[in-house]
Amino acid sequence: MSTVRVVFWLRLVTLVALCLPALELAWRWYSDDLGARPVTEATHITGDWAVVFLLCEKCGAVGEAASGAVVESLNAAAKSAGFTPKSPVIEITGVCAHCRD
Ligand SMILES: [Zn+2]
Repeated sequence: MSTVRVVFWLRLVTLVALCLPALELAWRWYSDDLGARPVTEATHITGDWAVVFLLCEKCGAVGEAASGAVVESLNAAAKSAGFTPKSPVIEITGVCAHCRD
């Protein structure tokens, strides 16, 4: 399988994985399983998370990851600076696994 196809499938799998919480919420809304306060329940289900973009400096590939652990550290750092974060997006530059090999 060519590298382009591998990157395509990795991106597709990542995108689908990132959509799973939304699909769960849609299913729970459809089956009337969000309780009396659906927005509050939806917030508890999805939790705090950040999108992390992984940018390869050599080939330009863009990977994505979601992390809840990163959000806790960022929120603590922002809070100590008197700032209230809303939607953390992180870009990390480096070298992808393909270019590293
Ligand atoms: Zn690369």
